[in-house]
Amino acid sequence: MLTSRCSARIDSKDLLRVSEPVNEFWFQVRLRSVLRPLLVVDVSHAASGLWHVFHSTLEGLAEELPLAQQPDVAFLGSTERLPLRSFLSQLDSLVSLNRGRGRVISPLFESFGQQWPSRVVILASQMLHDLEDWQSHAMYPRVRLISPNPLNRDAKLLTDLASVRHELEAPAASVRISANNAIPFSWDQPAYYTKALTLRCQPGAGSDVRIGFLSPESKLKVTAELVQADGSTDPLGVSAAEALEPVGWSVLTSAELTILEAWRARRPINCSHCETAHDPGEMCLASKLFPSLKMIPPGGYAVLRLQMFQATFQPICCSSFRLAADKVVTRSPSEPEPQLWRWNPDCGWQLGEHSGLFLPLETPDRFLLAMPFLKERHG
Ligand SMILES: [Zn+2]
Repeated sequence: MLTSRCSARIDSKDLLRVSEPVNEFWFQVRLRSVLRPLLVVDVSHAASGLWHVFHSTLEGLAEELPLAQQPDVAFLGSTERLPLRSFLSQLDSLVSLNRGRGRVISPLFESFGQQWPSRVVILASQMLHDLEDWQSHAMYPRVRLISPNPLNRDAKLLTDLASVRHELEAPAASVRISANNAIPFSWDQPAYYTKALTLRCQPGAGSDVRIGFLSPESKLKVTAELVQADGSTDPLGVSAAEALEPVGWSVLTSAELTILEAWRARRPINCSHCETAHDPGEMCLASKLFPSLKMIPPGGYAVLRLQMFQATFQPICCSSFRLAADKVVTRSPSEPEPQLWRWNPDCGWQLGEHSGLFLPLETPDRFLLAMPFLKERHG
């Protein structure tokens, strides 16, 4: 809870005041590609009359699914997993070796440890003996039970191949990265944005990312996880990394400089494209007003250096920017106007006011311009 000391909002006068040392940390987060779905097949005695149904289901999946989407396959009562194609190529010997295994899932689930498949679809003839024991497990939402026989309320009826395909497909996952007492201030993948000091992305938009944090801690513990649509999570690999290299400066056109000069004087411009006045930082179409900045992704920034006859810029390709050792502006698609965060030794990272889309930096010739978050529609 915030104390009354902490409840005061910081304002732009605080921008240039530095408190205690805040350290910079860099990490690389790697997305895993091992989350193949898993199909678990019943070879118990009760399943013998249904084996031809399971067999044709496996063959149908191998035919219909692209290789990258094919599941691994295991037998109920076993922990061994094989890619679908290898499984089918050794099918006869595998079945004769495993026939009669009990309808239990615990050995397999216990073998997963922290590495659960995105989906576990069980093709069973009858109820499993131990599935109920797992119903309160955090990963249970990934489990699906399918049978040609009506089993219970939760089990789906095996009607056709499409129903099995559907259950194997987990909806796209998103990514969540955070660290104790730390604010993300820079990263190299523009699909990510921050929300409440956590770096995240839309489902399906995740990729490996290098990320910088600011924190007063001397050691940082980063939590990076893949978040499935059902809310279950998988830990992601995190390793220490080098800081991102700053990108060089490029020159803006004289038309662009004219706009920026007006905004520096806190004057609106009369836009020749939409014939309305634009206050500092306001843009109807960024590509028309600032064609030189088109390489900056939506939600990024331009660091501007305005000199007498020339303006130059440095692109910032993420939606946060470090203003000073202990101050960061952040924004997100749902909150596109940059907001100030400042480290306060009494209450941690503290959210301040909106800073505007065009804000002065540490020297009088430097400004930060926030680029629109929405992609422009062309044509
Ligand atoms: Zn305009």
